[in-house]
Amino acid sequence: MKIICIGRNYVAHAKELKSEVPDEPVFFMKPDSALLRNNAPFYIPDWSNDLHHEIELVIKISRIGKNIEKKFAHRYFDEIGLGIDFTARDIQYKLIEKGLPWEKSKAFDQSAVISNTFINKTDLNDLQSIPFKLNKNGETVQNGNSNLMIFGIEEIISYISKYLTLKIGDLIYTGTPAGVGPVTIGDHLEGFMDDKKLLDFMIK
Ligand code: MG
Repeated sequence: MKIICIGRNYVAHAKELKSEVPDEPVFFMKPDSALLRNNAPFYIPDWSNDLHHEIELVIKISRIGKNIEKKFAHRYFDEIGLGIDFTARDIQYKLIEKGLPWEKSKAFDQSAVISNTFINKTDLNDLQSIPFKLNKNGETVQNGNSNLMIFGIEEIISYISKYLTLKIGDLIYTGTPAGVGPVTIGDHLEGFMDDKKLLDFMIK
Protein backbone atom coordinates (compact mmCIF):
# COMPACT_ATOMS: atom_id res chain seq x y z
CA MET A 1 0.00 0.00 0.00
CA LYS A 2 1.01 3.60 -0.37
CA ILE A 3 0.33 6.81 1.51
CA ILE A 4 -0.41 9.95 -0.45
CA CYS A 5 -0.63 13.29 1.32
CA ILE A 6 -2.17 16.51 0.06
CA GLY A 7 -0.36 19.71 0.99
CA ARG A 8 -1.80 23.22 1.39
CA ASN A 9 -5.45 22.20 1.10
CA TYR A 10 -6.80 24.80 3.55
CA VAL A 11 -6.41 28.52 2.86
CA ALA A 12 -5.79 29.47 6.50
CA HIS A 13 -3.05 26.84 6.84
CA ALA A 14 -1.32 27.89 3.59
CA LYS A 15 -1.33 31.44 4.93
CA GLU A 16 0.06 30.51 8.35
CA LEU A 17 3.04 28.88 6.59
CA LYS A 18 3.27 31.88 4.23
CA SER A 19 2.77 29.47 1.31
CA GLU A 20 0.90 30.27 -1.88
CA VAL A 21 -2.65 28.95 -2.18
CA PRO A 22 -2.25 26.35 -4.96
CA ASP A 23 -4.38 26.32 -8.11
CA GLU A 24 -4.14 22.52 -8.37
CA PRO A 25 -3.63 19.90 -5.64
CA VAL A 26 -0.10 19.46 -4.25
CA PHE A 27 0.75 15.92 -3.24
CA PHE A 28 3.67 13.99 -1.81
CA MET A 29 4.11 10.47 -0.43
CA LYS A 30 5.14 8.58 2.67
CA PRO A 31 6.28 4.93 2.75
CA ASP A 32 4.32 2.29 4.68
CA SER A 33 7.16 2.26 7.24
CA ALA A 34 5.90 5.70 8.35
CA LEU A 35 2.67 4.33 9.80
CA LEU A 36 2.05 4.61 13.55
CA ARG A 37 -1.01 2.64 14.65
CA ASN A 38 -2.82 1.52 17.81
CA ASN A 39 -2.41 4.90 19.57
CA ALA A 40 1.23 3.97 20.19
CA PRO A 41 3.43 6.77 21.54
CA PHE A 42 5.24 9.03 19.08
CA TYR A 43 8.97 9.44 19.77
CA ILE A 44 10.37 12.81 18.69
CA PRO A 45 13.39 12.13 16.47
CA ASP A 46 16.63 13.58 17.81
CA TRP A 47 17.42 15.35 14.51
CA SER A 48 14.54 17.85 14.64
CA ASN A 49 13.89 20.74 17.01
CA ASP A 50 10.54 21.73 15.52
CA LEU A 51 8.33 18.68 15.09
CA HIS A 52 4.79 19.77 14.10
CA HIS A 53 1.41 18.05 14.34
CA GLU A 54 -0.92 18.22 11.31
CA ILE A 55 -4.32 16.62 11.95
CA GLU A 56 -5.97 15.37 8.73
CA LEU A 57 -8.95 13.40 7.46
CA VAL A 58 -7.72 10.20 5.79
CA ILE A 59 -9.48 8.40 2.94
CA LYS A 60 -9.01 4.63 2.58
CA ILE A 61 -9.19 3.52 -1.04
CA SER A 62 -11.51 0.50 -1.49
CA ARG A 63 -11.18 -0.19 -5.20
CA ILE A 64 -8.40 -0.13 -7.78
CA GLY A 65 -8.61 2.85 -10.11
CA LYS A 66 -6.80 4.95 -12.68
CA ASN A 67 -7.98 8.14 -14.40
CA ILE A 68 -11.04 8.25 -12.16
CA GLU A 69 -13.58 10.87 -13.15
CA LYS A 70 -14.60 13.17 -10.32
CA LYS A 71 -18.25 12.14 -10.64
CA PHE A 72 -17.28 8.48 -10.02
CA ALA A 73 -14.71 9.12 -7.28
CA HIS A 74 -17.23 8.34 -4.51
CA ARG A 75 -17.16 4.70 -5.64
CA TYR A 76 -13.49 4.35 -4.72
CA PHE A 77 -13.74 4.80 -0.94
CA ASP A 78 -16.04 3.60 1.83
CA GLU A 79 -14.34 4.80 4.99
CA ILE A 80 -12.69 7.88 6.43
CA GLY A 81 -10.24 7.86 9.32
CA LEU A 82 -8.16 10.40 11.17
CA GLY A 83 -4.41 10.81 10.97
CA ILE A 84 -1.52 13.08 11.80
CA ASP A 85 1.02 14.06 9.16
CA PHE A 86 3.95 14.68 11.51
CA THR A 87 6.35 17.15 9.93
CA ALA A 88 9.87 18.18 10.90
CA ARG A 89 9.23 21.82 10.06
CA ASP A 90 12.82 22.96 10.59
CA ILE A 91 14.11 20.33 8.17
CA GLN A 92 11.27 20.98 5.70
CA TYR A 93 12.09 24.71 5.49
CA LYS A 94 15.76 23.92 4.82
CA LEU A 95 14.77 21.52 2.02
CA ILE A 96 12.30 23.99 0.49
CA GLU A 97 14.94 26.72 0.57
CA LYS A 98 17.29 24.52 -1.45
CA GLY A 99 14.53 23.27 -3.77
CA LEU A 100 15.04 19.70 -2.54
CA PRO A 101 12.39 16.96 -2.03
CA TRP A 102 10.54 16.96 1.32
CA GLU A 103 10.90 13.27 2.22
CA LYS A 104 13.39 13.69 5.05
CA SER A 105 10.95 16.01 6.83
CA LYS A 106 7.75 14.15 6.00
CA ALA A 107 8.35 10.44 5.34
CA PHE A 108 10.36 9.36 8.40
CA ASP A 109 9.36 6.47 10.69
CA GLN A 110 6.18 7.16 12.73
CA SER A 111 5.36 10.28 10.70
CA ALA A 112 1.98 8.91 9.55
CA VAL A 113 -0.23 8.42 12.59
CA ILE A 114 -3.44 6.59 11.64
CA SER A 115 -6.58 5.82 13.64
CA ASN A 116 -7.52 2.18 14.17
CA THR A 117 -11.16 3.08 13.66
CA PHE A 118 -12.41 4.35 10.34
CA ILE A 119 -15.94 5.72 9.97
CA ASN A 120 -18.08 4.37 7.16
CA LYS A 121 -19.11 7.23 4.90
CA THR A 122 -22.75 6.17 5.23
CA ASP A 123 -22.47 6.96 8.98
CA LEU A 124 -21.44 10.54 8.29
CA ASN A 125 -24.17 13.12 7.77
CA ASP A 126 -22.50 15.05 5.00
CA LEU A 127 -19.12 14.26 3.42
CA GLN A 128 -18.81 17.88 2.36
CA SER A 129 -18.98 18.96 6.00
CA ILE A 130 -17.05 16.63 8.32
CA PRO A 131 -15.87 18.36 11.50
CA PHE A 132 -12.59 17.22 13.07
CA LYS A 133 -10.15 18.57 15.63
CA LEU A 134 -6.95 17.96 17.54
CA ASN A 135 -6.57 18.54 21.26
CA LYS A 136 -3.14 18.99 22.83
CA ASN A 137 -3.12 18.52 26.60
CA GLY A 138 -6.90 18.99 26.67
CA GLU A 139 -6.95 22.20 24.65
CA THR A 140 -8.15 22.38 21.03
CA VAL A 141 -5.23 23.46 18.82
CA GLN A 142 -6.61 22.58 15.37
CA ASN A 143 -10.25 22.78 14.40
CA GLY A 144 -11.12 21.71 10.86
CA ASN A 145 -13.99 20.88 8.60
CA SER A 146 -13.94 19.23 5.19
CA ASN A 147 -16.05 22.15 3.92
CA LEU A 148 -12.91 24.31 4.20
CA MET A 149 -10.84 22.16 1.84
CA ILE A 150 -9.66 23.93 -1.29
CA PHE A 151 -9.88 20.62 -3.21
CA GLY A 152 -12.63 18.26 -2.03
CA ILE A 153 -12.29 14.52 -1.49
CA GLU A 154 -13.63 13.56 -4.93
CA GLU A 155 -11.47 16.09 -6.72
CA ILE A 156 -8.38 14.80 -4.86
CA ILE A 157 -9.07 11.17 -5.81
CA SER A 158 -9.62 12.13 -9.44
CA TYR A 159 -6.49 14.28 -9.56
CA ILE A 160 -4.13 11.76 -7.94
CA SER A 161 -5.43 8.93 -10.14
CA LYS A 162 -4.33 10.80 -13.25
CA TYR A 163 -0.74 10.17 -12.13
CA LEU A 164 -0.84 7.12 -9.82
CA THR A 165 -2.94 3.97 -9.94
CA LEU A 166 -4.90 3.86 -6.69
CA LYS A 167 -5.04 0.45 -5.05
CA ILE A 168 -7.16 -1.09 -2.30
CA GLY A 169 -5.86 -0.02 1.11
CA ASP A 170 -4.02 3.07 -0.10
CA LEU A 171 -4.42 6.01 2.28
CA ILE A 172 -4.89 9.62 1.24
CA TYR A 173 -4.16 12.28 3.89
CA THR A 174 -6.26 15.21 2.75
CA GLY A 175 -4.37 18.17 4.21
CA THR A 176 -4.37 20.01 7.50
CA PRO A 177 -6.34 23.02 8.70
CA ALA A 178 -4.70 25.98 10.44
CA GLY A 179 -3.22 25.68 13.90
CA VAL A 180 -0.20 23.46 13.25
CA GLY A 181 2.44 23.69 15.93
CA PRO A 182 5.22 21.89 17.75
CA VAL A 183 4.91 18.88 20.04
CA THR A 184 7.14 18.32 23.04
CA ILE A 185 7.88 15.34 25.24
CA GLY A 186 4.96 14.64 27.58
CA ASP A 187 2.26 16.14 25.33
CA HIS A 188 -1.03 14.25 25.15
CA LEU A 189 -2.75 14.36 21.74
CA GLU A 190 -6.40 13.46 21.09
CA GLY A 191 -8.05 13.56 17.67
CA PHE A 192 -11.80 13.72 17.06
CA MET A 193 -13.93 13.29 13.97
CA ASP A 194 -17.61 14.17 14.21
CA ASP A 195 -17.15 14.14 18.04
CA LYS A 196 -15.85 10.55 18.04
CA LYS A 197 -12.42 10.23 19.62
CA LEU A 198 -10.26 8.29 17.14
CA LEU A 199 -6.76 9.22 18.30
CA ASP A 200 -5.40 9.28 21.85
CA PHE A 201 -1.64 8.99 22.37
CA MET A 202 1.42 10.45 24.02
CA ILE A 203 4.52 12.23 22.74
CA LYS A 204 7.75 10.74 24.12
MG1 MG B 1 -0.12 17.67 5.92
